[in-house]
Order: sequence, then C-alpha cells, then structure tokens
Amino acid sequence: MTPISPLPAPRLGEPYLLTPGPLTTSYEVKSAMLRDWGSWDADFRALTAGMRAGLVDLLGPGKDDYDCVPMQGSGSFAVEAMLGSFIPRGGKALVLANGAYGQRAAETLRYLHRDHVVLDKGDYLPPRGDEVAQMLAADPAITHVVAIHCETSSGILNPIGEISDAVAAAGRVLLIDSMSAFGAVPVSPEHLIFDAMVSSANKCIEGVPGFGFVLARKTALAAAKGNAHSLALDLHAQWAHMEKTSQWRFTPPTHAVAAFVEALKAHKAEGGVAGRGARYAENRDVLVAGMRELGFETLLDDRWLSPIIVTFFCPADPAFAFPAFYDAMKARGFILYPGKLTVAESFRIGCIGQMDAAVMRAVVAAAGEVLKDMGVTSAAPPPQALAERARLAN
Ligand SMILES: *Cc1c(COP(=O)(O)O)cnc(C)c1O
Repeated sequence: MTPISPLPAPRLGEPYLLTPGPLTTSYEVKSAMLRDWGSWDADFRALTAGMRAGLVDLLGPGKDDYDCVPMQGSGSFAVEAMLGSFIPRGGKALVLANGAYGQRAAETLRYLHRDHVVLDKGDYLPPRGDEVAQMLAADPAITHVVAIHCETSSGILNPIGEISDAVAAAGRVLLIDSMSAFGAVPVSPEHLIFDAMVSSANKCIEGVPGFGFVLARKTALAAAKGNAHSLALDLHAQWAHMEKTSQWRFTPPTHAVAAFVEALKAHKAEGGVAGRGARYAENRDVLVAGMRELGFETLLDDRWLSPIIVTFFCPADPAFAFPAFYDAMKARGFILYPGKLTVAESFRIGCIGQMDAAVMRAVVAAAGEVLKDMGVTSAAPPPQALAERARLAN
C-alpha cells in the first residue's frame, strides 16, 4: 500500500477499518501490547491508576465529583454494569431509543428485571427534550433516564444537552451511553447533569477492544452498594476494590490497558477532546462532500450528522450491489460497514480511528472507481429512501 496520508498507514497490506470500533489503531498503540504485566504488580497498578485519572480529566470542569471504574469485556458489558449498578431493583427507567443501542439498553433492563418504559423514535429520529419532559411529568415512578449519545446504528448525534436539561428539571437521574462519542464529543458536568456515562477502549480514544469504563459521580458509586444483579458486573464492588487495592477485582485485560494508556497519550497530544473531535469532523466533512459529489445521499440532514459514522443510502441503480461494492472497496484497502435500516438499503462509513482527511479523500476516490467498474451510472438513492428522509425534516 502506498502511503496516502501524513498518518502512517496502519500496516503494509492491512486495510483501514472504516468501522465504529474496533478501528484502525496506531503503530504505537499496537506496540504497547508487546510486553506482559503482572496484574498485582505495582507497575500495572500505576498504569490503571493513571488511566482512571486520565479519563476523569477528559470530563473537564466539574470532574472532581466523578471517578472512573473500568470494567472487563466489550462495551455492552459496561452498559449492563452501569444499568444494573445504578438503577435499584425498585427503580424505573425511561429508555430513549432510536436505533440498535437504545433497543439493546431496553433489552438489558428486561434481562435485569428492572421496570422500564421505552420512548421509541424508530431508526433515526432524535428523542427531543420536550418529549422527555412530557413522559417524566406523566409518570412520577420513573427514577432514571437512559440516553444514547451518538446512536451508532444510524450515526445520529442525539441532542443530549436538551435531554439532560429535561431530566434535571424533572429531578430524575440521567445515565448516558456515550460509547461512540466520548473522547471526540464533549461530555462535561459543565454542560450536562448526569450520574454516570459509559464508553469503551476501542472507540474514540483509539485503543483496542477488551474493556469499557464508567465515569460516575462518586456519591452515586457509594450509594450503588447492593444494587447489582451480577457479581462480575457490580460497579460498586469493582470501584471499592480498586480504591482499596488499586487492582482490578478479577483478571484485567493487561495488554489492552497498556495499549489504551498509549492511546490516551496520543489523545492528549492531539489536543484532547477538541483536537480529536476536530479531526473526526474534518474526516466527516471531506467524506460527505466527496460522496455527495459522486451522487450518494446521506440518511441524515447535516444538523444530525455525527463526526463518528455516516449512513449513506445504497444507489437505486440496478448495477449496484452492496456485497460487490464492499469487496471492491476492501480490495482497495477500505473496510466498510453494512447498514441497519429497515426502510431502505444503506451502508455506513466510520470517521473514527487513525485516519485523516487524506485517507477520506482516498476512500471517496476508491468509491468513484468502484462505481465505474460496476457500471453504476448514478449513485442516487431510490425515491422511497428520499421520502423517508423527508420525514426527518420536522
Ligand atoms: C459500540 C457501542 C456499544 C457497545 O458495543 P460492544 O459491541 O458491546 O462493544 C454500545 N453503545 C453504543 C452507542 C456503541 O456505539
């Protein structure tokens, strides 16, 4: 692969992952995994402590009220830990769903036998603050609201500020799944009122998979004792153990933690949340402009487009087929992500990971070549897809 970017190509012959995690990591992050750590050893304990402090720092003003509790497993394990540890057995949650991850949060609550209601906005309409306020006013039994920050299944950046305002005004507790946004989109107690938020190692901090982490109010962590439905996913217990021993309660993903600490250094060097967010936003802008020039259309209106991942409609042209498009893009070094819409065929392109504007321009150029090779004359989506999109305009 010829170098096409000031960022080093991930590795000779290795494709760029245009996916929302696992994603393309730097050589330094990968290299950090080439040593073994004793989980009880002081060196690893210091690594964990530094990581926890570094993550709390990303919250900015107001961070001192919060602590970081890492949790082994993929992001969903940390979401389950957050829901089970902070929503007591007698509580009731309102889940704001507009895609697969909101649905998964609701399903998790079903497994946990936690009472809940769902505001289901379908595949990609945003839950609005006034709707949340109405539902909370109508049901005083609701104690917690669960919101998805960037719903990665469509790429929509949900209006978390107005949601936080509505929840706080009603005196309820907000829990945020900021899995795919944290690190690139500001999440700060300065602007948002929340008890806990969750993210994971392999999203915007650009580490490798292996664990998630919850940033939670210390008072909420202290009060969570005895809530958890699960031994291994008890955030209070993990927190209390870490505070006491500076060790993880059970075997930590040592190599993934070492890689993540390296990734945090790079995040800081890039200018923290603002710097990372600016690169991703430029990635998105270059990608969207280029794809639109080829005739593709985005599912979402510009104001809802996240700098994380973008959904494009598949062209209506009968010469287009996504599996062949995918294979040809992969042959050019780019791994795409299939779509998840029920209404129209679509695919997604991630903007996160070790990629910059030069890589995104190469993605667009490759897409143009592949369309030509396939004999696709127009990348315009079918009319029903555009009709669906018009529904979003409200
Ligand atoms: C990635 C992601 C998750 C967690 O998914 P895992 O596959 O369990 O890591 C949860 N919520 C959102 C919004 C995500 O993007």
